[in-house]
Formats: sequence, structure tokens, C-alpha cells
Amino acid sequence: MKRIIVLFVLVIAIAGCTDKQKTAKENMNKQEFNYVADQFADLQILRYQVPGFETLSLKQKQLLYHLSEAALMGRDILYDQNNRYNLAIRRLLEAVYQDYQGDRNNAQFKALEVYLKRIWFSNGIHHHYGEDKFKPGFSPEFLDDCIRKIHTDRLPLRIGQTAEQFMMDVFPVIFDPAVMPKKTVQSGNQDLILASSNHYYAGGITQKEVEDFYAKMADPNDATPISYGLNSRLVKEKDGTIVEKVWKVGGLYTQAIEKIVSELGKAILYTENDKQKAVIEKLIEYYRTGDLKTFDEYAILWVEDTTSDVDFVNGFTETYGDPLGIKASWESTVNFINKEATKRTKVISDNAQWFENHSPIDDRFKKKEVKGVSAKVITVSMLGGDCYPATPIGINLPNADWIRRDHGSKSVTIENITEAYDRASQGNGFNEEFIWSDTEREAIKKYGFITDNLHTDLHECLGHGSGIILPGVDPNALKAYSSTLEETRADLFGLYYLADPKLTELGLTPDADAYKAEYYKYMMNGLITQLVRIEPGKDIEESHMRNRQLIARWVYEKGKDGHVVSFEKKDGKTYVRINNYPALRELFGALLAEVQRIKSEGDFKAGQQLVEDYAVKVDRPLHTEVLERYARLNLSPYKGFVNPVMKEIRNTAGEVTDVILDYTEGYTEQMLRYSKDYSFLPAYN
Ligand code: ZN
Repeated sequence: MKRIIVLFVLVIAIAGCTDKQKTAKENMNKQEFNYVADQFADLQILRYQVPGFETLSLKQKQLLYHLSEAALMGRDILYDQNNRYNLAIRRLLEAVYQDYQGDRNNAQFKALEVYLKRIWFSNGIHHHYGEDKFKPGFSPEFLDDCIRKIHTDRLPLRIGQTAEQFMMDVFPVIFDPAVMPKKTVQSGNQDLILASSNHYYAGGITQKEVEDFYAKMADPNDATPISYGLNSRLVKEKDGTIVEKVWKVGGLYTQAIEKIVSELGKAILYTENDKQKAVIEKLIEYYRTGDLKTFDEYAILWVEDTTSDVDFVNGFTETYGDPLGIKASWESTVNFINKEATKRTKVISDNAQWFENHSPIDDRFKKKEVKGVSAKVITVSMLGGDCYPATPIGINLPNADWIRRDHGSKSVTIENITEAYDRASQGNGFNEEFIWSDTEREAIKKYGFITDNLHTDLHECLGHGSGIILPGVDPNALKAYSSTLEETRADLFGLYYLADPKLTELGLTPDADAYKAEYYKYMMNGLITQLVRIEPGKDIEESHMRNRQLIARWVYEKGKDGHVVSFEKKDGKTYVRINNYPALRELFGALLAEVQRIKSEGDFKAGQQLVEDYAVKVDRPLHTEVLERYARLNLSPYKGFVNPVMKEIRNTAGEVTDVILDYTEGYTEQMLRYSKDYSFLPAYN
């Protein structure tokens, strides 16, 4: 809900490449921008453009510059949060990578390079999405040999540690699959804290001890509770006492946080207005004190600043990495408003009440008065911490429920990122492989980008905020099924309205057929293509993937008699075909009504059954077929981004006369530069 990530990128192929006119137009649109920066393992690294940056005022550019510096200063924090060995291992491998004198084409060195690139991508030794520890493709003997050939002062040694002791300490973490196997363990019967290898907790503290510690703090009658434990590591000391080590100036991670604060201080000089100035000053105060009440004050100032062009996120924000959802990873994005595209989200939020009133749900579950939703489309100019290189395409903050209730939330769609995804995937063969016919391919090519963004807007601006929970119903009644069902509800809201004539009337869709592109894409993804992310033999666990299969499978089953959606075979390959689009829309509406009822009434049993019946189990033969077809395309299931390089231009007097962007930096170059210029923490924290 708080963050949308791309689970499957809309892929637009250039249909009929012999059409010269079309090809010429495509090339013109692309402006010869090189979107792909690198590809390795299961990853593709892209570049994003920052359209409109040149037309900003010098002052705004300088504000963006200092906020961007602040976005990079916290990079090491995330590494250490993800695992206590991450910084040491990254620095070791970077030293080996840079100082290696042997043949850089030998297979062992190549494998080390891939391993290091994966660590950079995941900000640590565990997969960013699957959570499993990477298996190195090189041998301990090879690394041992490399380490002996580089100078010891290049090694991240602990005080008094020899190179031998260092290897004894670090090698099991790199090579032994049984040591720290998973970053975050989200479910199961084990102690989730002890089973997770992240560094939000230390000293062998148990899940029970963590839960007791925070249960004692929380006052159930507090209507405006702080986010207990958000900005600290919880540690069990040798004598058994449990203490919070707060991430702040003078506390844990102070070396990096001081740098962030210093850059934020420079940014203040270029703020656009007093409101924005107050936001940054409050953030600095919070970093200095670590006081979570101050953090809430900051979050309120931030959410209420809706008039500035430049905006940012900087701090301990999302709690996905902690199985208990208490501790937040450090992240940053820096951005400015895309005024043209924001007209679209404004139309949507201005009509929020109309959408609520006309929703196909029971009148008892409708909101009588929809509060203003602040939604905008933004252009990012720098990504940092947990937003880099893997990047969300939309963000909805702040996270504290009572702030959302009393002060609202900001919902953003990051359009220059979705655009880069879209452009980079053009012509990669995916659509030729999986889409039923040219009719659907053409529709997706023509409308796909618009309707995909619109679906995200509707999901975020209206879907999550729509409907009410009946009085007396426990808001947590759906328990472990709540996030899947919540995403299902928001997606269905978007799908249902995409086909509404009202959208064309409001000028949001170009014509009455546009929605078909998104319907086809959604059904193909939910029924077939998202399975490429599931390993053979496994079920679906991630809640967005579950929600997509739930919707697609449910409407397929319910529409079977009427032949609404069908599976078709061609040359032994399976395809999805939509035979009746209006009927499909009715089915989306019917499921929305049922999922809303489940939420409004807190009907756990019905919710559980929907998820277990439709969302979890994988069609094995289809899965095998899809994996084979996908493997032949040689594509990467995960993508991330390098940042542009932001440079200040100075005149002979030393004054800044402009800030410019350079897009030519490569992935390895950027990572090594960041490690050199933005690395402030000791190897062990
Ligand atoms: Zn959502």
C-alpha cells in the first residue's frame, strides 16, 4: 500500500518493424537515449531521464543538488541495516576487484565480479526480493589467493585483526549456505527475529523479547502514538538488559547522519518557500535528537506541504525489512512535480466523491464524504538507500495511520521511472511470445502506457482510500490475508473504473476502447506471465502477485460458462484470450463488491478462502511451459537504475552558475564512485 513496485513491466514491442514510418517515429521519440546500462545474473540495470530539469530555476536546481547529495550520504546505513557483514564484504570485494592483477577474463574473477554487482544491487549479500543469500560462483581458494595478493591496509579489518583472522571470520558468511541464509524471514513457525539475518536486532534477542519490549511501550489509549522503535536497533547486552541504540547524530550511524544533516543544512538556503524550509529544519532536528515525536511533526509538515515544486523523502521510512514491521530502512528520493501529468491525478482526486458514489459496492460500505487526496506525478532526479537501484514507481506516505487519518497522505506516481521501464522493454520479444494476436499487441502499443499509469493512479489515489469498515469491526480482522486483499481491492477499483465512460468524459482516456489494453495485460500477467518469477515447484507468496492471480483466476472461473476469458493453444503454446470485455468489467465489479464486503464486515473466513482458492496455488504444467518460453527470451526478471550524475558548474569567482545532469556513467563506475565518495561508516557498526 505504501509503496508500489513493478512486479511485471508492461512490455511494448514494436509491431511490424518493416513499417519504416513507425520505426522512424520510434527513433525520434527515443532521442537515442541509451536506457540499458548493464545486465547480469537476473538483473537489468537501466538509466532514467529527468525531463524538465533544464527549465527549472537555478535556485531550484541548487536545492535539488543538495537534497541529492543528502540522498547519497546514507548509502552505507542501508548496507549495515541489511546485515552486519555487508560493509566489510563489499569493501573487501571492491578492493580485490580494483587491485586484481591477474587475467580479468578468467572465470573465477568474472564470477567474483557478478557477485559484487549483485551485492551492489541488493545493498548486501542477500537477494533484494527473494531474501536468500547469494551463492558465489568463485571458490574460497580463489578469494584467499586474491586477498593475499593485495595490501592488508586495503582490508576492512577489525582492530588488531590479522588477514587470516579476517578470512576465518568472513569466509563462512560468504561461502557457507547455512550461515545467515535469509535476510528477512516473514512467516513460518520459527522465531522470525532469530531466523532473519538483518541487523535491526542484535545480541541474540528473541522475537518474544522484542514483542514484550514494544508492547510495554505502547499505550492502547493513545490516539496519536509515535512509531515505536522505528529508528533504532534493539540490542540484548551481555548482561541481558535490552536497549535501543538510536540512529541519530551522536548515536549509531552518526558518521553518515552528520553528512546528511550538513547537506540538508545547505539545501535550506535554496528552499522555495517558508513551509518547505520548515520541513527541512524539522527533519534536521529529528536527525539530531532521534526523537520520534519530532519525526511525527516533520511528517505532518511534509504531508501538508503540497505547493512546493521540489519534494523529497529522506530518512528511516519503510518497515518491509523487519518481519515485525517495527524498524525502518533508510531511503531517499529527490524529485520535482510533473505539472502536465499532475493535471491527470488532479482530475481524479477532484472527482473522488463521484467515483465513490458510483462504485459497484453495497451502499452501506461507501464513504459518505471522501477526504481530499493529495496526488501528484513526479520526476525523480536522485534515488538513494532503499530506493536504489531497485526503485518503486509510486509512493504513498507518511505511514503512521493517525497522521494519514488526521492530516492525509501524499501519493505520488514516478513517471520518468515508468517511462524508462517502458522504453527499455520495447522490442525485446516478450510481447511476440506471450500475447495472443496483433490486435492485442497493437492496443497495448497504442494505449498501454496511458492506461497502465491510469490504473496506478486509480489504485493509489482512490482505491486504497475508498470504502469504510463497519462500526465495531476489528480493522485487523483479516490478519495475514489483509495485505493481499487490500491490494486486490485497490486493483479492482482501478480495473472497474478504467472501462467507465466517465474516464473518457473527463479526458483521462482517449477513447472508449483504451481500457482493453490494460485488461488484456492484467489478465495475461495474472494468469500466465507473472509465473516467470516463481521458482519451479513453489507457490505464490508475495502479496501483490497473490492479488493479481486472485483477480485473474476468479474472473476466469466465474466467466467460464459465458466464455468471457479463455486459454487458447497455438503451436503447443498457451495464450490468454479475452472474448467479452464488457462482461469482464462486470466480473471485476462483482469481485470488488465481494472483497469490499469482506473488508467492511471483517469476514476472515471468506477472505481466507478467496486467497487460498485462487491466489496461492500454481498451475504446474503451465508454469513449466512459461518458464521455458521465458528462458529462451534471455530477459531479466528484475530491474533497477543508475542515477544521473549531478554537477555544479562554477564561474571563475567560484559561484554556481548552473547544475547539469550527465547520463553517461556506467553501473560499475557509479557504484565504485559512491563507495569512494559517500562511504562514511566503519565496516562494523
Ligand atoms: Zn496498493
